[in-house]
Amino acid sequence: MTDIHDLLDPYQSDLTDAEIETLAVRAGQYRTQEHEHSEAIFPTSSYVFRSAAEAQATFSGNAQGNVYSRYTNPTVRTFEERLAAMEGGEACAATASGMAAILSVVLAHLKAGDHVLCSQSVFGSTINLFEKYLRKFGLDIDYVDPTDASAWKAKSRAETRLFFLESPSNPVMEVADIEALAAVAKEVGALLAIDNCFCTPAIQRPLSLGADLVVHSATKFIDGQGRCLGGAVVGSKELIDPVVGVLRTAGPTMSPFNAWVFTKGLETLSLRMKAHSENCTAVAEWLEQHPKVTKLNFCGLASHPQRALIDKQQSMSGGVLSFEVEGGKEAAWHVIDSTRMISITANLGDAKTTITHPATTTHGRITEDERLAAGISQGLIRVAVGLENPKDVIKDLARGLDSL
Ligand SMILES: *Cc1c(COP(=O)(O)O)cnc(C)c1O
Repeated sequence: MTDIHDLLDPYQSDLTDAEIETLAVRAGQYRTQEHEHSEAIFPTSSYVFRSAAEAQATFSGNAQGNVYSRYTNPTVRTFEERLAAMEGGEACAATASGMAAILSVVLAHLKAGDHVLCSQSVFGSTINLFEKYLRKFGLDIDYVDPTDASAWKAKSRAETRLFFLESPSNPVMEVADIEALAAVAKEVGALLAIDNCFCTPAIQRPLSLGADLVVHSATKFIDGQGRCLGGAVVGSKELIDPVVGVLRTAGPTMSPFNAWVFTKGLETLSLRMKAHSENCTAVAEWLEQHPKVTKLNFCGLASHPQRALIDKQQSMSGGVLSFEVEGGKEAAWHVIDSTRMISITANLGDAKTTITHPATTTHGRITEDERLAAGISQGLIRVAVGLENPKDVIKDLARGLDSL
């Protein structure tokens, strides 16, 4: 059998020292004998052999080649190599969803009796995964303020094996000092995993700041148009190989079709993140001077309490902001229900602007005290600004805000 690697186009680009925008378009592509310009898609579950002997050689690993798409698929491999190149990682494992990526990291690297330190401001399903499903297998988990590196040190113990966090945090845009946390993780012998879904490698590359693993929900900005579910884990080959082992055995792998969509998504990622950041900045500037807005959380603000850290870690401010209005839930719901274009949904990272009320949706299941500790008041509204003209987003938000 001919391995896809043997079909490499002789004109394959030399990507030595290439910049991220170039890697986003060129990395990981294998051309077939058809010399297609755009990446091919291989929607196949299995692969054929020319003889029983070839099948045996391939199954045993003595010959290179694809066996079954739970193990390898050329379309998925292209996505993995491209994202790895963009994150500056040696290897990548693509998964069926962002949650499958987080689960696979835990299954690959932790065991009963181990201890996890997790940011108190992470995606709701991440906390659910730890509390409802992983605790019963003997993992212990503590939750920590992502902005306080000394708290991570203080809560670490001999069994601590994983630090897990998002930066910036959702929905109040607090930023964790990744370099400082990497130093603490190293000191206590834990892996540092960063969920880089809000920034993507176009804005922030955690591996270059000392993180061991980057986790993605490709469902969000990497797709960018709300079409597919997927995820990925990026890191050194040594740390990714065990994750690949979990995927091959347990099966939450990425479908070739989704991998193809994400691969094409990566090509425009830097451009889109720039547009999301610019549009979000325009909306934030309008909100900042609006008399009914009592608080604004956005990484692009000159007044952000962690301005210097953001400038060090992030090349752009990102496409998500949140703001508070006086009048609690009633006022917030009025603003949300007055929109006529913006989509009322908790999803983000889409070309379409989305709006949500965190206290009754994404953070609806935690107690009011826990919400307030996380900065989520009843008057808080989160907006993930899309690729529409920001003037129209502002006009839509003004309907409710101006009539409060
Ligand atoms: C959506 C999301 C996830 C989960 O990803 P899925 O693809 O929905 O499984 C994880 N982390 C963050 C920050 C997210 O926004």
